[in-house]
Amino acid sequence: MEPLTEQEIRVAFVNCTKGEARRLSVPRDLADRPWEDLDFLGWRDPQAPDRAYLVAELDGRPSGLVLRSSAPVFGQTRRSMCSICLTSHTGGVSLMVAPRAGKAGKQGDSVGAYICGDLCCSLYVRGRKDAGAGARLHETITLEEKIRRTVGNLGAFITKVTA
Ligand SMILES: [Zn+2]
Repeated sequence: MEPLTEQEIRVAFVNCTKGEARRLSVPRDLADRPWEDLDFLGWRDPQAPDRAYLVAELDGRPSGLVLRSSAPVFGQTRRSMCSICLTSHTGGVSLMVAPRAGKAGKQGDSVGAYICGDLCCSLYVRGRKDAGAGARLHETITLEEKIRRTVGNLGAFITKVTA
């Protein structure tokens, strides 16, 4: 994806108030992020472990989501799969819940998805980050197709939040 500035990130959020978007913590190392290998920028809030954020390009413009996430479960031995990039982790997948945009969200309506707890889906898909043996399905499709599928899954999630 194209590199984003802090300002572009703040105005991209679709499911929180303008005030929240102004205050939330945006990574300080934006210049060092591996943008060319990212399908979306995702990060956890260093000040609030139950908060995470992601920004993806949807229909040519950045869309950002505020997410609430369960704390990682330590000692969990069961594998679970990220619904965005289809990587399996032992204890490394979090249920991320996004308040829906607009009136529905204000009434408490939300959409949830199981997502890699570190939000590094793009890097797992490209083999730049390793989640251990058996984490990735053996598939015959190309990397390009895997990336397209990841982007499609994420787009569907964002669309559910904004619908
Ligand atoms: Zn993932």
